[in-house]
Amino acid sequence: MAIGFIGTGNMGSPMALNLINAGYSVVSFDRSDKALESIKAVNGVIASSLQELAMTAETVITMLPTGDDVRKVYENEGGVIESVADNTLLIDCSTIDVENAQIVAKKASVRGLQMVDAPVSGGVTGAEAGTLTFMVGGSSEALERSRPLLATMGQNIVHAGKSGSGQAAKLCNNMMLGISMIATSEAFTLGQKLGLDPKTLFKIISTASGSCWAMQNHLPIPGIVENAASNADFKAGFAVAMMAKDLRLAELAARSVDASTPLGDKAADLYTSFEKTGNQNLDYSAIIKHISS
Ligand code: NAD
Repeated sequence: MAIGFIGTGNMGSPMALNLINAGYSVVSFDRSDKALESIKAVNGVIASSLQELAMTAETVITMLPTGDDVRKVYENEGGVIESVADNTLLIDCSTIDVENAQIVAKKASVRGLQMVDAPVSGGVTGAEAGTLTFMVGGSSEALERSRPLLATMGQNIVHAGKSGSGQAAKLCNNMMLGISMIATSEAFTLGQKLGLDPKTLFKIISTASGSCWAMQNHLPIPGIVENAASNADFKAGFAVAMMAKDLRLAELAARSVDASTPLGDKAADLYTSFEKTGNQNLDYSAIIKHISS
């Protein structure tokens, strides 16, 4: 029996490779052949269908774009919930809305299957380095079953609470990330217009009170931060479409509990309008183009 990994895109591919490199038997599936290239490059096992994967796995891990994708993969006829063996553990690492995460986990539990929502933070570099943070929603027992696999792909594993809580924590985190990338973009655009050298500005803010993770790791100005997408014409990493989706999910979550998130709402608007003008596949740090235009 193996680990079935569904969704080997920007994040899923390095996560699956870390499991393979740690000696786990991993069967991968993605609807896109291109997404499977890095798995094929190490002679990883590829399933020809989702059903084939589900039938050979004792644990299924998913890393998919949206809540709709997650629901289809788990709930469709021939999908994961219907096809896996009894007692299979289900781990969804995608970032989706709290409600869909709870619905899928509930449907899994009706079949007697344990499931956790375990979205991640750390980006593609964290996925490659195996240093992701996992925010886990579900029972303690399901978390403990998941822990050895999560520890192979990440460094920090935090139990956020009941089913859906991992997604709630992730949406709060990404709302902060979206806002801070916009703040970074505004500050560096303003700095340049005021005649500051961006390298000098980066050095100053790095040790000053405005410093943040988005600036330190994903600076939208090329030639300063190693591995930043700005060094490679904003090839995603974390795509604009994904950030826009997460900010809209945070907005919906805020409305559902009557929380006031004015900057989160503004960030959702800015990313959504940037997404709609053909920039959906660029890295989220490319929002500086929208700010400086
Ligand atoms: P991606 O688009 O690169 O990868 C998703 C993969 O899922 C694609 O290869 C796609 O073909 C596959 N897929 C979609 N539907 C499928 C289906 N029905 N059957 C099989 N395969 C299917 O996206 P990503 O950047 O890897 O992000 C995945 C998730 O992780 C998203 O929810 C995102 O918000 C979250 N996330 C991404 C990052 C990041 O930096 N990229 C960081 C943290 C969290």
